[in-house]
Amino acid sequence: MLHILKTYFGYDGFRPLQEDIIRNVLQRKDTLVLMPTGGGKSICYQVPALMSEGTAVVVSPLISLMKDQVESLRANGISAGALNSLNDETENASLRQACVSGKLKLLYISPERLMGEITYLLRDMHISLFAIDEAHCISQWGHDFRPEYAQLGILRQLFPKVPVIALTATADKITREDIAKQLHLDAPRVFVSSFDRSNLSLDVKRGYTQKDKHRAILEFIAKHGDESGIIYCMSRSKTESVARLLCEYGLRVAVYHAGLSVEARNRAQDDFINDRVQVVCATVAFGMGIDKSNVRWVIHYNLPKSIESFYQEIGRAGRDGLPGDTLLFYSMADLVLLTKFASESGQQAINLEKLERMRQYAEADICRRRILLNYFGESRTHDCGNCDVCKNPPERFDGTVIVQKALNAIVRANQRVGTRILIDILRGNLSAELKEKGYQELKTYGAGRDIPARDWQDYLLQMLQLGYIEVAYNESNHLKVTSAGIEVLYGRERASLVLIKREEAGGDKRKKTRKERRPPELQFTDASEESTGLYEALRDLRKRLADEEALPAYIVMSDKVLHLIAQQRPTTLEAFGNISGIGEYKKKKYGKAFTDLIRKHA
Ligand code: ADP
Ligand code: ZN
Repeated sequence: MLHILKTYFGYDGFRPLQEDIIRNVLQRKDTLVLMPTGGGKSICYQVPALMSEGTAVVVSPLISLMKDQVESLRANGISAGALNSLNDETENASLRQACVSGKLKLLYISPERLMGEITYLLRDMHISLFAIDEAHCISQWGHDFRPEYAQLGILRQLFPKVPVIALTATADKITREDIAKQLHLDAPRVFVSSFDRSNLSLDVKRGYTQKDKHRAILEFIAKHGDESGIIYCMSRSKTESVARLLCEYGLRVAVYHAGLSVEARNRAQDDFINDRVQVVCATVAFGMGIDKSNVRWVIHYNLPKSIESFYQEIGRAGRDGLPGDTLLFYSMADLVLLTKFASESGQQAINLEKLERMRQYAEADICRRRILLNYFGESRTHDCGNCDVCKNPPERFDGTVIVQKALNAIVRANQRVGTRILIDILRGNLSAELKEKGYQELKTYGAGRDIPARDWQDYLLQMLQLGYIEVAYNESNHLKVTSAGIEVLYGRERASLVLIKREEAGGDKRKKTRKERRPPELQFTDASEESTGLYEALRDLRKRLADEEALPAYIVMSDKVLHLIAQQRPTTLEAFGNISGIGEYKKKKYGKAFTDLIRKHA
């Protein structure tokens, strides 16, 4: 097993669970694997496929995913192919032949195609195993049910002796049980790996105005140099306006949402994968087909509707194990809108509950990773040190007077105002609406002038969280004072608020140096400094090699491997082959070009 891993994939050891999973498959037993995105699921069926006679049949829901996998395998010298509607007939014919003759080690296929071939091609092949990727698609309980997956249950009936391995990154228990049931798995062993993605940093910004958000996004991207990232927005129009903003600042940006044509969406995805654009502004429609390993950051412009969606979306960063940064903006307006959507949805109770958990995450003043992992059923006893709360623990102050001012204004306006108007009253902003209602006559008009509007946004969110106010969703989202609020208003209780700290413009704008972005295991070995010049030269070489083969750069070599090369500076083929992630095939194919470059550079 280790020999295969080293020869084909260039890795020196297995990650937790991989070895046990592979053994289970090799014993021809059914297996269910739950691992987070980037956890290393593919190896779990690819190694057994390489160690067995015949061909492994891998069911995958999307052509882009199959393409990525097949390209990666071929780049490692493994014979793999995908049967799908994009192939021309000659291609399909030779692929079928390779299947029947047993030359192909892995065949990727869509579920509908599989059904079509079940009594033809599959009958004539020697099948080593079935791997069902994205297996949650089979369950109605999952978040991505696909009717085509529902028929896969028949595999067990037609191929009772072939082991099945189902893999997914969706953790919840109902879905898990449903997968086993639908596929008729035979007493499957279930492997659940930790869902912790410790390389992803977590950060939440609360109560930002649109202007603040835009400034924060530009600064965030500036810190990341030319690294790839995704900005998720709630609406199609928002994806477009954010993209326009970034374009004005000279960034290469694509837009992706369900309102675009298939061609436009494919182009956006392709440009992103091949590093022709740096940023994609997208709705949640984007990402399922993305296996790009060097996405370095994900921003949520709006609050996601559930922790599942949020975790899946940020999970697209840092798949290669290098650091990835995530940033979430949380505002009252989003909360109001999402509550409305959830209330009007078919599964009102569930969706409101999911939103509530998302809100608790965004409002947390304890380690955010603990909340996430806890949500997925993993309890944690230590803080992570890689979230904003851990790095910058909230400081509290006595905010009674601030809270009283806001509550007073709400009461005086007969509890008939929403946040925007309330802030105008507090700040003494005489808008047409205020004038019409005569709010400038209120005693609290202008009482909170000393506090900027954006800080009021933040304080109001805190007051909501502390239970001093409620939003009446059925009454134009007007704010109501609760009984706990009354206690503070009349001075019978004191209110403690979290101090607002903002990194002001002109702060830490510097780009992260390459050193800070090196793989964690290398960050402490400063004996062999990584030279930026060499890294850039290696990157250019990779890009040239990738372009020659019309492959995405990360398939030729991941960022992680590139950093390792820059660190270890191998000048012989042998040393090059010892780099983690370089198998025999890549050693022979790329070794000379890279070692030549390193020698020249020295
Ligand atoms: P998943 O399908 O679970 O999202 P992948 O199978 O794409 O994850 O693996 C994520 C990354 O981890 C890939 O770059 C893969 O090559 C790498 N990887 C997997 N197993 C190992 C291992 N044992 N050692 C080092 N890297 C690994
Ligand atoms: Zn933390």
